[in-house]
Amino acid sequence: MMAAILILGQGSLPTAHRLQTALPGAVIYGLKGRVTGADRVYDGFGETLRELYQRDVPIIALCASGIIIRSLAPLLQNKRAEPPVLAVAEDGSAVVPLLGGLRGVNDLARRIGVALGQAPAITTTGEVRLSLTLEHPPSGYVLRNPADGKAFMSDVLAGETVRVIGQAPWLAASRLVNDPNGRLILRVTTEDHQPEVGELVFHPRSLVLAAREVSDDLPQQVQAALAAERLAVQSVACLLVPLAAAGQPAAHQAAALLGCPLRFGDADLPDARHHDPIAIAQAQDPTTLSLPGLRQGRLAVIGLGPGAADLMAPAVKDELHRAGHLIGYDPYLQMAGPFRPDQVVHGSDNRVEMDRARHALHLAAAGERVVVVSSGDPGVFAMATAVMEALHASDDPLWHGVDLVVLPGISAAQAAAARAGAPLGHDFCTLSLSDNLKPWSVILDRLTHAAQADLVLALYNPLSRARPWQLGEALELLRRYRAPETVVVLGRDVGRPAEAMTITTLRELHPQQVDMRTVVIIGSSLTRHFPRGAGGQWAYTPRWYPNQ
Ligand code: SAH
Repeated sequence: MMAAILILGQGSLPTAHRLQTALPGAVIYGLKGRVTGADRVYDGFGETLRELYQRDVPIIALCASGIIIRSLAPLLQNKRAEPPVLAVAEDGSAVVPLLGGLRGVNDLARRIGVALGQAPAITTTGEVRLSLTLEHPPSGYVLRNPADGKAFMSDVLAGETVRVIGQAPWLAASRLVNDPNGRLILRVTTEDHQPEVGELVFHPRSLVLAAREVSDDLPQQVQAALAAERLAVQSVACLLVPLAAAGQPAAHQAAALLGCPLRFGDADLPDARHHDPIAIAQAQDPTTLSLPGLRQGRLAVIGLGPGAADLMAPAVKDELHRAGHLIGYDPYLQMAGPFRPDQVVHGSDNRVEMDRARHALHLAAAGERVVVVSSGDPGVFAMATAVMEALHASDDPLWHGVDLVVLPGISAAQAAAARAGAPLGHDFCTLSLSDNLKPWSVILDRLTHAAQADLVLALYNPLSRARPWQLGEALELLRRYRAPETVVVLGRDVGRPAEAMTITTLRELHPQQVDMRTVVIIGSSLTRHFPRGAGGQWAYTPRWYPNQ
């Protein structure tokens, strides 16, 4: 997960840039109105800090540690669930790790210290005395019994002797004394070894498993192969399956069972042990292991919501952070940005949905992290369908092997309805008035049925320069079935700076009030409105029906 660097004033930006150079991928957040030139703008320090913390993002805040402590205080309960949090002095003269001792905050503090030429203020006793955090081994190693870590370290600090069994350069580099007769044991092994009392077991992630072919039994086969060799599942660095099997569910299930990445390719593993169809190879050093084959790519089809950042799901923000490639209609990409220099932005016209979907799948199948951006919800007249359709039509196993997710957003009708009150409070339907992809006769037919059924209607794509007359004809049809005083809600640019809400009636409604950036909500016979205290009107549709 990439770190967030929070700054409160323009004067901190140079220090933030030095940190960013040392921590590639870190994102600089600047306070709205106070900082220009940051990657992202935020409004409200405390809320932003808490949101990042809850999303498990490592936080480096260039401010007094007290501000951070007070902001996060309500959330500090579970020690294992906290991301690294550091305070850094605005001029870079002090680096103070605050939280996340079990998640590498001291390592991060040291990296920052090197970048700023400062000794970090490390206070963890084990680190100070032994240069060692047992509960946070370096990447490439996994502690099998983390719950025993704290007591073990307390015993060591109290003077207990320790015997190290197995190879671990990072243990050797610490100030821990290896006593061949030690009472406590630190064991480094790929073996499936159950820790005993007074023992910590570290598993190097140094095993590569390759399946020669994939059948439905693959999850059992990988387990059986590991059991036959008495190897720990925690030591598996990856599972390699043939390219042709990339789209087979059993391959994905086996990788999930092992808790390791899935890779695609036909590898000939040297010095492997064979338990057909599984071959197991072991690397000497897990920290320099280069994984064979092609990495599994990810494709996230996300919805930005109507526009405002606070109406965007945190999961969507995470995907935007992690994306290597971003694909979408130019104005939506602008709404989703700004992006870092290492993120490739592929803007396009709004009309080439299928091309965009295929492009996204192609990049993800090559191992990239790709995000396809829609406004509102990606499943409402937007890109998710195009991606599904393109994938459905493909028989490329690598396309089917992509880690594909669709993340929802708040759709325009929901956002507009919430601003207006609750006009969608009872049964409603959404219709697109665009006849680009469906015949106008179908639209009229659906409108007729919806109007007759007394459904509230949310009309998307109501009008454009290329489709100037359609809305007028649709309203003419609706007026045949709905009373002139039917409540109508117009939401234009909802959630964006130019937002305008209008509550009117079917009689008053004129197509000139509507454009491409408007969603039109036509009420049912029961939709009503009343004055709101703050001025204007509330509109709502009750959930009861008169004949009930
Ligand atoms: N996926 C989008 C809809 C895309 S279709 C969603 O779920 O919202 C495009 C149409 O959506 C526009 O013509 C307009 O009718 C509506 N729309 C999208 N964003 C809007 C906004 N912020 N305010 C009002 N209408 C919007």
